[in-house]
Amino acid sequence: MAHRGARLHAVGLTGRVPPTGDTGSRVHTRRTRARGGSGYPGAVSDTAGTGPSPNPAQLPDPATSDVVDLFRAICDLPSVSGDEAALADEIERALTVCAHLRVDRLGNSVVARTSLGRDTRVVVAGHLDTVPIADNLPTELRVEGGEQVLWGRGTVDMKGGVAVALSLAARLTDPVHDVTWVFYDNEEVDSDLNGLGQIVRTHPDWVTGDVAVLGEPTAGGIEGGCNGTIRVVATTRGTTAHSARAWRGHNAVHDAAPILARLAAYEPGEVEVDGLVYRESLNAVGIAGGIATNMIPDACSVTINYRFAPSTSPDEAVEHVRELLAGIDCDLTVTDAVGGARPGLDSPALRAAADTLTAATGGKVGPKYGWTDVARFAELGIPALNFGPGDPMLAHADDERCPTAQVRDCARALTAWLAPA
Ligand SMILES: [Zn+2]
Repeated sequence: MAHRGARLHAVGLTGRVPPTGDTGSRVHTRRTRARGGSGYPGAVSDTAGTGPSPNPAQLPDPATSDVVDLFRAICDLPSVSGDEAALADEIERALTVCAHLRVDRLGNSVVARTSLGRDTRVVVAGHLDTVPIADNLPTELRVEGGEQVLWGRGTVDMKGGVAVALSLAARLTDPVHDVTWVFYDNEEVDSDLNGLGQIVRTHPDWVTGDVAVLGEPTAGGIEGGCNGTIRVVATTRGTTAHSARAWRGHNAVHDAAPILARLAAYEPGEVEVDGLVYRESLNAVGIAGGIATNMIPDACSVTINYRFAPSTSPDEAVEHVRELLAGIDCDLTVTDAVGGARPGLDSPALRAAADTLTAATGGKVGPKYGWTDVARFAELGIPALNFGPGDPMLAHADDERCPTAQVRDCARALTAWLAPA
């Protein structure tokens, strides 16, 4: 067959975004009743969290309880995706009594905001759900190498971040920036269900701000922005024939060879964006072709995943794949495309915030490679960082565990930024 350039089929570049509309979620707003809280004390007890939570269905008062006790209680209140109602109820109940907060709820997402008239507004967000429990709840406190470590589902992804946010939401009554605290559901499942995405689509005014921090696990470091991702299926076409008379057909699987050769030879770039270096990757992640073992295949599809730096748009990423495969006779269909998020660390304010946070935790500032919800803030024009306790390599693992000191460090770091002494 004659060689021609790769053909690009009509693509939907917003495949992750479902139509707006009534999701059946309930929405309500509560004005808070009286009760303040003190600032985060920084000093904490050494004896925290030595026993199981007294009542796993109830959280201790975040305004007065130790953040590690709160952390453990939040973990011990199971909230696998789709089952976050009890935890959302507890968070709503705890924050509604805080006089300094306005609390809104959408489905099982809770948004609490100060309105102090500050020059800047910081959004601190975290998801309530976990992946399914693997016989690793209730949590278990162990001492390992002289360090207190909490084992169990959610201890890394990401109930430490939720505990820090809930504790500070209740305690920081007079922050130097206005703060919006977002607790949302369904992050670990289909993107259409994502509670933060639902808020962004239906109540974008709830999550406006100048900078956002997502409490995903970074072991107390800063992971800025995130790479974008596209999936493109490259399909070659041939002609079927009995494999005993192969000369009567044309083998589409063989035609995929040059596609694989170009992918194998491809050297992914490293792209600096706002001072962070994003490592890209471009790979075949699947291949399908052939319907019987005695037939010449008439079609072969290579699924390609390109993870690209946040300075590149999804359209540019698709174009990059098209150029890579130029001259190979194949059809290209984009099945998934979502942009990344710039880290925004060229902004002096955000760089200062990152330095303050990492100074308190000893963590490092680096790029985020995987796609995360920071990209939803990027869509709103809000630079966003990932910052939270827990080693991200242990997220979703059966031996998920987090040193409790990291939870305290992250609480101290956010306090140093939001309510410096
Ligand atoms: Zn997570």
